[in-house]
Amino acid sequence: MAQDHYKETVAEELAKKARRVWYRQRVEAIHAKVTTYDVLRSNGVDLKQSGDAEPEQFSCPFHGVDTRPSARVYPEDAANRSHAWCFVCQERWDAITLYAKFNQLEEKPFGQMLSSMEKSYGLETPPLPSEAVFDEKGRRQDALWETFLTLYNVCERRLCDSYPSFKYLDDRIGYLKLGSALDKLRHRAKNRSIDPEQAQSLLRRVLTKIQEKERKCPTG
Ligand SMILES: [Zn+2]
Repeated sequence: MAQDHYKETVAEELAKKARRVWYRQRVEAIHAKVTTYDVLRSNGVDLKQSGDAEPEQFSCPFHGVDTRPSARVYPEDAANRSHAWCFVCQERWDAITLYAKFNQLEEKPFGQMLSSMEKSYGLETPPLPSEAVFDEKGRRQDALWETFLTLYNVCERRLCDSYPSFKYLDDRIGYLKLGSALDKLRHRAKNRSIDPEQAQSLLRRVLTKIQEKERKCPTG
């Protein structure tokens, strides 16, 4: 029973992950083809340039009569995609959120909104990525963590056994430091706040130090 439940949860997680990746791909594809300017133009919004360097302005269609244009549209730069901002609404839109606003799709499921936008701008909806890909990745990660755990146990035992080689005060401090490094690694591994390969390489460093100590002062 418990096993089945676990499997179900894993399957759900994988399906969610596949969907997230799918949405991200589609968002990127839309932004690569459709700018905020395109969405404004295809909704009949007039853009007015007030000065050479000024961003273009437009009368915001969302907050009632707007005879003195309250909204501006900004081109893409290194930090941001093209976007619009209305001083009255106090809202910022990129191509996708602006499309949703114009078509009253803000409350609809995200996937539905993306499909609608893809259709409007002649973009093909890519296929949902296969969940198997993520499953394989998950299995690889699990194997790496298992190796980490084996190596961790070796380090811990070797450090305990090597205690007599740490004879002097300086050594004893070194011993405590290695122990604390191990503790921290175990904690980070438990939280998965470190990459398993990086965790393994840090462990190997601790192990090398223990081995150096063992060679210098072999215990009886
Ligand atoms: Zn507005």
